[in-house]
Amino acid sequence: MEHHYQSPWFVEALQKEGDLKINQLDLNLNTDICIIGGGFTGLWTALKIKEKKPKINVVVIEKDLCGSGASGRNGGCMIPQSTKFQGIKKIVGLEDAKKIVIATEAAVKNIKEYCKENNIDAQIRDDGVLYGATNKFHKGAFEDLIKDLNENKINSWKRLSKEKVQHLTGSKKFIDGYYSPIGGSLQPALLVRGLKKTAEDKGIKIYEKSTALSYSDRKKIIVKTKKGSVKCNKLVIAMNAWTPTLLPFLSRSVILVSSDMIITEPIKNELKDLGLNNGLVILDSNLFTHYCRTTPDGKMILGKGGNTFSFKNKVINSFDGPSTVEKYLKNSFKSFYPSLNNVKITQSWNGPSERTKTGFPFFGYHPKNQNISYAFGYSGNGVLTCYMGGEILSSMVLEEQNEWTKSNFCKGPLKMFPPEPFRWLGAILIRNAVRRKEKNQEIGKNPLWIDKQLAKLAVSVGRVDFEKK
Ligand SMILES: Cc1cc2nc3c(=O)[nH]c(=O)nc-3n(C[C@H](O)[C@H](O)[C@H](O)COP(=O)(O)OP(=O)(O)OC[C@H]3O[C@@H](n4cnc5c(N)ncnc54)[C@H](O)[C@@H]3O)c2cc1C
Repeated sequence: MEHHYQSPWFVEALQKEGDLKINQLDLNLNTDICIIGGGFTGLWTALKIKEKKPKINVVVIEKDLCGSGASGRNGGCMIPQSTKFQGIKKIVGLEDAKKIVIATEAAVKNIKEYCKENNIDAQIRDDGVLYGATNKFHKGAFEDLIKDLNENKINSWKRLSKEKVQHLTGSKKFIDGYYSPIGGSLQPALLVRGLKKTAEDKGIKIYEKSTALSYSDRKKIIVKTKKGSVKCNKLVIAMNAWTPTLLPFLSRSVILVSSDMIITEPIKNELKDLGLNNGLVILDSNLFTHYCRTTPDGKMILGKGGNTFSFKNKVINSFDGPSTVEKYLKNSFKSFYPSLNNVKITQSWNGPSERTKTGFPFFGYHPKNQNISYAFGYSGNGVLTCYMGGEILSSMVLEEQNEWTKSNFCKGPLKMFPPEPFRWLGAILIRNAVRRKEKNQEIGKNPLWIDKQLAKLAVSVGRVDFEKK
């Protein structure tokens, strides 16, 4: 069977499975709940529903293979939402902002325990997260955030000395930094394929290579695929980048932009020399951060978001291929680790990342039918947040009245982007201003005023939402 160009993670996960057994939907089914999309969101939701109500019948339909979207190709960096706390608080209020920080931090332990209980070897190494400053403009950038987190008794970050930062990252490029022990890295494709297997073991029916083509939003919902259909009482749309194809009213709620990655050949000895021997996630403090981590078999990956913006949020073919900014990433890699200059980069890849204007995801109901719910807009930070997404969507579907269903996260999109062509043109203008600003900062130069103003408009779409005041 032919597969799309995929990340090395996904290839490794499929190889470990051996003979692929694909169950395609070729009949007309009746079920209680149907979920469209077999990534982290769809599978965590299915598993949470089954955990809460074991007798409920759940069907998942996936257009390709479970995990073939963002879930099987991301950086595997477990980064809680704490660095966005102040931005989130401004939009949803203090209590909800605290909830998302606490839930995404708890997700590290929850995912680890879930994997242990269900024999999923997702190579989880919870060695924390480090945000480093690579120039004077980023020095001390977390001070205000830490004060705020401390006041709310949810702070896990601490500032480290320059020497300690350089020791932990193995990179002299960092001159300052902050560390939190809550976070780390995993192999995302092993996790998502493991969740798929666990879901099947628990009686959830999964159909792959079965694209949902349409659905009726009447009382009894019917989802149609090419060869079959699913009639259900409740429908969950967990399609991530593809969401607007079935929910066009959400098309202005995100900007689709690539996140791009490279991976090295195995370099265990070189990593040992640099002191890189654990699952620490290392990030710089740019708006579209570089993120970096090692693998247990001694490779290194480096990625960066905010590269290729698609017009009209179309999931374009280049999202399923090698990175278009491979050369740029190779140069970044060399600038962080000059001693690894001759190391071979064996592959690059990318994928679509849906950035909301608020910088965090939202959940909601179809305006014509409360029995249809959705999640959207993880904004490049989904490994931990999708676990929370599963908790939220399962609560919505099961009509639970709890801290999540009553929260501002379940009110659909809280902010919209302008329509095309303004959204795309604006995104390119802002991305270029951010690039110029960061290039100048990197060489110690003050950015142009106009670039600083334009960059401010992009703050929410970055992984970090602060700039030294
Ligand atoms: C390159 C890259 C790197 C990233 N790195 C990180 C990181 O290091 N840390 C982090 O926290 N986050 C990261 N992210 C974000 C994270 O991967 C996502 O937020 C997360 O995987 C979203 O999961 P999901 O289940 O919502 O979406 P997906 O995994 O994309 O799942 C959606 C699924 O829906 C299916 N689908 C679409 N249309 C249909 C249809 N019509 N019928 C049936 N099925 C359909 C797709 O095939 C897909 O499998 C990264 C994202 C990318 C793209």
